[in-house]
Parts: sequence; C-alpha cells; structure tokens
Amino acid sequence: MALEEYRKKRKFDETPEPAGSAQKSSEQARFVVQKHLASHLHYDFRLEIDGVLASWAVPKGPSLNPRDKRLAMMTEDHPLEYADFEGVIPEGNYGAGKVMVWDQGTYEVQGKPAAEQLAEGSLKFTLKGEKLRGGFALINTGRRAADPRQQRRWLLIKERDEFADPSWNIDEQDWSVLTHRGIQEIE
Ligand code: MN
Repeated sequence: MALEEYRKKRKFDETPEPAGSAQKSSEQARFVVQKHLASHLHYDFRLEIDGVLASWAVPKGPSLNPRDKRLAMMTEDHPLEYADFEGVIPEGNYGAGKVMVWDQGTYEVQGKPAAEQLAEGSLKFTLKGEKLRGGFALINTGRRAADPRQQRRWLLIKERDEFADPSWNIDEQDWSVLTHRGIQEIE
C-alpha cells in the first residue's frame, strides 16, 4: 500500500487536505466515514490497514440494515491523518466540495489479518464508532471482472447482530461526529 496515487491527484498548495505519510499501525486500528458533497454526494468509508487508510466510495452510504447491500467502489489509499479531515476542498481540485467526518472509531478484524482478507477480496470486521457498530463485511464482487473499473466493485453489508437496525435511514444522520455540523454548514 502506498500513497503515490493519493498524492498525484492533489495539489497540496491549493487543498487543505493533508499530504500525509504512511505511518506505523496504530495500536487500535481506526476507521472513518466521511460524508463528501462533491459533484455527487457519497460517503467515503476508510479502514486503517498497514499504516494507511484503505478507502471505498459508497454512493448511498453505509447501512445498519442487513438487507442493504451497498455498492462500495475501492479508491486510492489515504494517509491516516485524513481521518480527521473536515472542511472544504476548493473548486478546481480533485474531489472539490464539502467533507464531513460523519463517523469515526476503531475496528477489529474478524479472523485473519486485514491485509490478507483485503487481498482475498473478502473482509469481515467489527466497528466501534458513534453511528456504526457491530459486524460488517466487504465483499469484492468485481474481483474476477476483465474491466479494471469493475474490479473495484465491492459490497458493504451489515451482519445480523444486536446493532442491526432495519429502520435505518442515513438522511437522519446528517451531523459531524467532530463538530456536530450538517454537511451544508461545513465551510
Ligand atoms: Mn470522496
């Protein structure tokens, strides 16, 4: 895992996002979900794996309803420092728009090390966030596709446990866990 692609896409003299560096792994692996109002609203789901944030763009956002299978397109690794980034990416820059720290916390991988599961295209983990809790799976359904873009297709699915919520509605969760602002209030 490396941050070249992340850095190549960004001009750090223009964007407030961190340039960052690959770090030693934290004692407790972190996760973050950022609500990102760019050209299209989506949620960026990020898991700390081997000193960087493995990242997926989830158009409809994560769900606590185990019936929802949320498309999650794998994107470039981000630096760990990105987990605390909330603000505005200026016009003309990659991902221009508002970024909110929608949820944050730690996670525990279920079974083999996360990097191995990631490489195998099936990752199971337990989130301890403010909004997201309990077991989840990420499954790389596009793994065997010929088209490289299709290979980035994963599904994010809530496991059935005491944290499952069939009435989950993400639109009722428009607040930052850092600043309690709604997405339109980020500036
Ligand atoms: Mn994004």
